[in-house]
Amino acid sequence: MDPSKYHAATVTARQDLSPDLWTMRLRMPEPFTFKPGQYATLGLEDDSGMHERPYSIVSSPAEAELEFFFELVPHGEVTPRLYKLQPGDAVLVRKSAKGLFVLDRKRGHKQHLLVSTVTGVAPFVSMLRSWARDPGWAPEGTRLLLIHAGSRSWEFGYAAELQELAAKLPLELVLSVSRPWEDTAWQGERGRAEDLVRKYADAAGFHAGSTSAYLCGHPQMIENAKGILTRSGHAKQDLHEEIYFILPKAASGS
Ligand SMILES: Cc1cc2nc3c(=O)[nH]c(=O)nc-3n(C[C@H](O)[C@H](O)[C@H](O)COP(=O)(O)OP(=O)(O)OC[C@H]3O[C@@H](n4cnc5c(N)ncnc54)[C@H](O)[C@@H]3O)c2cc1C
Repeated sequence: MDPSKYHAATVTARQDLSPDLWTMRLRMPEPFTFKPGQYATLGLEDDSGMHERPYSIVSSPAEAELEFFFELVPHGEVTPRLYKLQPGDAVLVRKSAKGLFVLDRKRGHKQHLLVSTVTGVAPFVSMLRSWARDPGWAPEGTRLLLIHAGSRSWEFGYAAELQELAAKLPLELVLSVSRPWEDTAWQGERGRAEDLVRKYADAAGFHAGSTSAYLCGHPQMIENAKGILTRSGHAKQDLHEEIYFILPKAASGS
């Protein structure tokens, strides 16, 4: 490991939301610059070498610590190692944040459609926290529609905070559960994120030509939502995507 390329961060807090979802906050040894929506590359080194992956930053740049929302991939290379971390433990963070999945200001659209699955909400939380702290973060007249889906409601992670943000900001929030039979107490919207895109985007007047769309998380949701938005006239340059992983070949056609 080349120490000039990494910060040694310290885990300050961890919250487990379910057996395979958790959030963590990291204290950096020096200020870390990033834009809401960008990711940091986290690494852990052991006898078998350096193991690193990109993770979208949940916190806003104004916060003193970096926050992340993780899903455990039981046979994965990095998440089982991250899963063992507790407050006080060290994590390596590549010195520069990366990524182009940020609010698109070039196209001049006032309407931004955000679509996410589970941990894919991370960049949107960063954007919304930034907007709540600084109303000037987005141009006047900006409206956001966030469609966030999980299999069950305990996968949302940030539901309570998002509801508070929706009460303060010009944000319409749709939380949806795609396996309601496994979450019988859930009273809200049902269905996969992509199945709800047209319904809510049309109702809110988020039409092609005046809307930028951002799709984040599961590759299948992104492929499906992109197809739906493209067929309803959204131009390629108005569709932004952050694909979290590549499906193994056997799972991809389903
Ligand atoms: C820009 C970017 C931002 C990301 N942000 C986040 C984030 O905020 N939170 C987060 O948890 N992850 C995020 N990811 C995914 C993350 O980088 C890792 O790919 C993921 O944590 C799995 O790493 P791993 O080493 O444990 O598994 P790997 O060894 O990389 O993967 C093992 C196998 O599991 C599959 N797989 C990987 N991830 C998943 C998954 N989530 N569900 C089902 N199968 C999977 C892979 O296809 C592979 O076949 C992001 C990815 C990118 C590209």
